[in-house]
Amino acid sequence: MPHIPTAICCQCLVAMRRDKNGVLVEMMAKDGHGALNSYYKIASDRLECPRCHIKILAEFSERPFAEHWQDKYEERRPCDVQATLE
Ligand SMILES: [Zn+2]
Repeated sequence: MPHIPTAICCQCLVAMRRDKNGVLVEMMAKDGHGALNSYYKIASDRLECPRCHIKILAEFSERPFAEHWQDKYEERRPCDVQATLE
């Protein structure tokens, strides 16, 4: 099986490498009134371009580990970063 990269940097056209495993992301989304609310929490990996060093979050797990409607959502594992779905 050949090595198939997860991501390619569009600037440098080289395969990005995994920089950090298990970055927890709190995903924010707008509700019907335009207010930004916590939507779910999910694990990802951080990738880095070895040339220009731009970093991205990718390789999200198949499902969130917590969703806003669940009991004790606020108390679930704190996330490393917040991101927004637009
Ligand atoms: Zn690059």
